[in-house]
Amino acid sequence: MRRSILERLEEGNVLGAEGYVFELERRGYLKAGPYVPEVVLDNPDALRELHKELLLAGADVMVAMTYYAYRDKLRVIGREGDVEKLNRKAIRIANEVAREGDALVAGDISNTWVYNPDDIEKTSRIVRKMYEEQVRLAHEEGVDFVIAETIEYVGEALIALEVIKKYNLPAMVTFGATYDRSKDGYDWIEGCKMLKENGADVVGFNCIRGPDTMLPLLKKLRKEVDGYIAAQPVPYHTTSRHKAFQFLRYKNRLAFPTELEPFLATRSEMADFASGAKKIGVNYIGICCGGAPHYVRAMAEALGRRPPASRYSPDMSRHGMLGNDPKLKNRHEKRFLKQWK
Ligand SMILES: [Zn+2]
Repeated sequence: MRRSILERLEEGNVLGAEGYVFELERRGYLKAGPYVPEVVLDNPDALRELHKELLLAGADVMVAMTYYAYRDKLRVIGREGDVEKLNRKAIRIANEVAREGDALVAGDISNTWVYNPDDIEKTSRIVRKMYEEQVRLAHEEGVDFVIAETIEYVGEALIALEVIKKYNLPAMVTFGATYDRSKDGYDWIEGCKMLKENGADVVGFNCIRGPDTMLPLLKKLRKEVDGYIAAQPVPYHTTSRHKAFQFLRYKNRLAFPTELEPFLATRSEMADFASGAKKIGVNYIGICCGGAPHYVRAMAEALGRRPPASRYSPDMSRHGMLGNDPKLKNRHEKRFLKQWK
C-alpha cells in the first residue's frame, strides 16, 4: 500500500512540484489572463506528459490540475457547464500518472477572487459552495490529500480548511504572501497558527515569492509553529523591494505574468533553496509558477535523491567544449576556451 502524505512527512521531506498552469500556458495549451486549465479537457495528453515529466524528475505528489477550475472562473471563459467534467478528468489523469510511480495525488483548490471581508457573509457562502463542489469531486474521484493554495485571506483559508476536513482528508493550506500581511490584516505567521489550531495538517506558503523573499518567512514560521510546514516558491528573483513576483518590473513595465523570464532562477539556485529549506526544517518542499521538470530534478538531487530523470542529469566532463573525458577528441579546443577565462 502507498504510504500516506502524513507517513511520508513523518519519515522525511516530501517533494512537491507545481506550476502546471504557467508551464502549459507556455506550451500553448491555455490562455494567460484567465489562466483556466482548459487543457484538461482540450488536450489531456499534454497534461499527462507534464505530470509524467514531473514524476520522472522526482516529484512525490501529482497535483491534480484543478487550480482555478471552480465555477466562477469557468464562467469567465464561458465554460461553466464543464466544472464537473474538468475536475473529474484532472483527478483521473493525476491518478493514472501517479500509479506509474509511487506518487500521491493531491486535489487542489485555490484563492477565489470572490471572498470579501466587507461582505463576509454573502461572499463566504459563495466561496464555500465553490470549494464544496471541487472537494466533493476530488473525494469521489479519489485523492490522498487536498492542497488549498495561493490564498491571501485568512478567512478564505479557514473556509477551505473546513471544507477539506468535512471530507476527512488531510489538508495542506498555504498562503500566497503578496503583501506583508494577509489581505484581511493578519500577520502571516499568526494566520498559519490559526490554520493549525483549526486542524490543518500542513501550513506554509506557496507561489508569489521567490526563494530569497520566502526564506525569511519560513524561518519565522519554523520557529513559531510546530508540525509540518510547506514551502513552494516561484523560481524567480524577487527582491526586498519587490517581494512578490507580481511587482517585478522589466523595461519600465510589469513583467508579471508573461515577461518574467529575465528574473528566472537557475536550477542550482532552486537546488540550493531545497537544501536550505530542508536545513531550516521545512517538511514539504516544492516549486510553484515558473516551475519545470529540470528544476524539480535538481531539487530532488539536492535532497539526496536520484529520480529516474537523473539518468540524464548534466555531465560537463563529456561536453565538446568544457569536457576532458578521455573519449573526447577535443584537446585542440582548449586553446579557444582559454580566451574565455
Ligand atoms: Zn504559483
